[in-house]
Amino acid sequence: MIDFKEPYKYRSYTINNFRKIPQVEKHLSEEEMFAIEVVGNVLPFKANTYVVNELIEWDKVPDDPIYRLTFPQKEMLEEEHFNQVAHALKTGMAKPELSELVNEIRKSLNPHPAGQMEHNVPEIEGTKLTGVQHKYRETLLFFPNHGQTCHAYCTFCFRWPQFVGIDELKFAMRETDLLVKYLKEHKEVSDVLFTGGDPMIMNVKRLRAYIEPLLEEGLEHIQTIRIGSKALGYWPYRFLTDKDAEEVLALFEQIVKSGKHLAFMGHFNHPAELKTPAVQEAIKRVLATGAQIRTQSPMMRHINDKAEDWATMWRQQVQLGCIPYYTFLARDTGAQDYFAVPLVKAWEIFRKAYQSVSGVSRTVRGPSMSAAPGKVQVLGVSEINGEKVMSLRFLQGRNPNWVHRPFFAKYNEEAVWLDDLEPAFENEFFFEREFNAMTGDKSPDVIREAFFEESF
Ligand SMILES: *Cc1c(COP(=O)(O)O)cnc(C)c1O
Ligand code: SF4
Repeated sequence: MIDFKEPYKYRSYTINNFRKIPQVEKHLSEEEMFAIEVVGNVLPFKANTYVVNELIEWDKVPDDPIYRLTFPQKEMLEEEHFNQVAHALKTGMAKPELSELVNEIRKSLNPHPAGQMEHNVPEIEGTKLTGVQHKYRETLLFFPNHGQTCHAYCTFCFRWPQFVGIDELKFAMRETDLLVKYLKEHKEVSDVLFTGGDPMIMNVKRLRAYIEPLLEEGLEHIQTIRIGSKALGYWPYRFLTDKDAEEVLALFEQIVKSGKHLAFMGHFNHPAELKTPAVQEAIKRVLATGAQIRTQSPMMRHINDKAEDWATMWRQQVQLGCIPYYTFLARDTGAQDYFAVPLVKAWEIFRKAYQSVSGVSRTVRGPSMSAAPGKVQVLGVSEINGEKVMSLRFLQGRNPNWVHRPFFAKYNEEAVWLDDLEPAFENEFFFEREFNAMTGDKSPDVIREAFFEESF
């Protein structure tokens, strides 16, 4: 029995010091280390002692899934880009020139997919709420400024453009002020989802400054506070031995006691993240506050593209008291080519896993794409009137009315995203005209008003 009284030594690794990791020295060749440096100059790289010492099985590197999840790989960049940066590093290119090159490459990697910037950010009293995205009627995403970094970075992450930080408590209060104002005018919102980066990177003072105002009078319509976090997977000591671990748990309890539901949205990408005594104890402590833990992950090649991985993950999660929630498809940004699993293949993997677990694990929904019009689930492949088609539906839609209505696309084994699909039986998908109008000349707020009105 480990009592978790001794703090676990946190050390963070980036491209500047990763060569000092003993396991890296022992297991990686000079060529592999150089590749990490090259790719790590373009895509952010960060690991920590827990990930390196407890999660990665170094004798399986480079195939180890957690290694591939956190350490940049050569193939994540196009060959041309890789060679450009490699050459720059080898010839000692000056810093400003190198940044320029790197920024050009980053721009070509679609840093803000799915119209995040243009269409989801609302305004209040003429001020853009830059930390807010309100895309789906009931659930508002909030990106607290102090939560825009993580305990370690995932190589597949689409949040990479925002890993830059600002550091002031006042800013948090000002942001929350505007958020509360917005929420008071939007009674259709029932859920506020704190996301990032990782909100659990914040100390308890900051976290409280963001959350407490949501518990006050006038916001009774906010029924659920959600926290999207990978802390359980990458740094469970956040709930065990960090200086303010007890206070964090007390804050969770306070949320629950206030009468709101606290949903901790835990990101787990592989069963390996569930096996340590630390994560298991951390899950217990979070659940003991009255919070629920719902789990989600994208499906990625090289990491979790086997049905057994998913079935094992869901079973273990249920056994630990968590609720499987979403399986996503890798988004069209960053190193997507490296990670993308085609839609048909993803559905086959998902289905095989889903079939092999009992009903209590089948709370999970997927595989789903977070595309510009909404979250689109691949329901499967069928044959209708002799034509092979793919059947899809919205789990969330920019127009709530689109949700849960099956629609069909021509069978396409190579498609990895909604844009790759063509409608079957019709000239356009049923939502296309409306969607194009939404993203056309009207302001996002006008659209939101038009579609979010009807609620009950
Ligand atoms: C997934 C997502 C949500 C949350 O959707 P739920 O189905 O309520 O979990 C909210 N906003 C955006 C932009 C999302 O992608
Ligand atoms: S923990 Fe989440 S936000 Fe952070 S790098 Fe990983 S996927 Fe991105």
